[in-house]
Amino acid sequence: MQPTIELKDSYGRPVKSLRISITERCNLNCIYCHNEGSEGSQEEMTPTEIANIVKVGTEYGIWKVKFSGGEPLVRKDFEEILRNLPPLKDVSVTTNGIYLEERAKGLKEAGLDRVNVSLDSLDPECYGKIICRSPKLHKKVLEGIDAAVEVGLTPVKLNMVLLKGINDDQIDEMMKFTRKYHGKVVLQLIQLMDFNETSRFQVNAENIEKMLAEKADEIRVRTMHRRRKYMIDGTEVEVVRPVDNTEFCARCNRLRVTADGKFKPCLLTNDNLVDTKGASIEELRELFKLAVKKRVPYNRR
Ligand code: SAM
Repeated sequence: MQPTIELKDSYGRPVKSLRISITERCNLNCIYCHNEGSEGSQEEMTPTEIANIVKVGTEYGIWKVKFSGGEPLVRKDFEEILRNLPPLKDVSVTTNGIYLEERAKGLKEAGLDRVNVSLDSLDPECYGKIICRSPKLHKKVLEGIDAAVEVGLTPVKLNMVLLKGINDDQIDEMMKFTRKYHGKVVLQLIQLMDFNETSRFQVNAENIEKMLAEKADEIRVRTMHRRRKYMIDGTEVEVVRPVDNTEFCARCNRLRVTADGKFKPCLLTNDNLVDTKGASIEELRELFKLAVKKRVPYNRR
């Protein structure tokens, strides 16, 4: 076991967490999806390759891992991926929730701590339009959320991407829904990043935060990205504002990994990837350091 060495990039930002895409395959086709900034590779890392990256990460002080995609739950070996991980403080996944009901218990048993579930609307018709699939899938997501709460994959964070004219009038309704779970479910409002010519759907995040601030009993500021959390009538609402936000980038402590095994220092750039395919543990240690060196805040002061 190597001693823990904390790595910082040349802007003084430590790296504490990994966001690992495990597949680019997805069962939905959401109108806005950034697909974690992928380049469309079909290759996928094996559970051992993923575990090796995380093991090396822990030597450098990584304690938190989030899995993403594509849709992570289309991988039938996701439980095996989880079981192979070294000890961590926080292991989570972001999922569209379609397969969550049938997998929640097994995921918990395999070591998953919590889930983020993408749910942009409580109206099945509206939901169906956003995900470009049948409104009937909406029911599956709601069942998935219930199952996640039941097995303790909590707090379940609901990821709601705000879309002007589509769901931006549904925040109150979503808070009401969240409240039913008595603190086991929290709401995350996400500012849309324009990857698919969707700028016409951009909401004014400042106005949303003002509206939340007026209703809030308490406002907390997280270290992560300096995100604000609003406590409203017993519901927690967090706002994620990545667009043109220097504070967001200055506080970023994440290193990404693409589904085909490349370190990706930033969601928004692809000219600084570091390929780990076929690397030994010794080589991974050096590649990890190289990737951290390549981290540059996308939005700088
Ligand atoms: N399929 C999984 C899911 O639905 O969570 C994982 C992949 S998805 C890319 C991860 C998260 O990114 C989702 O919560 C989604 O809402 C969010 N997301 C995707 N495209 C986005 C965009 N253009 N702007 C902001 N958030 C986005």
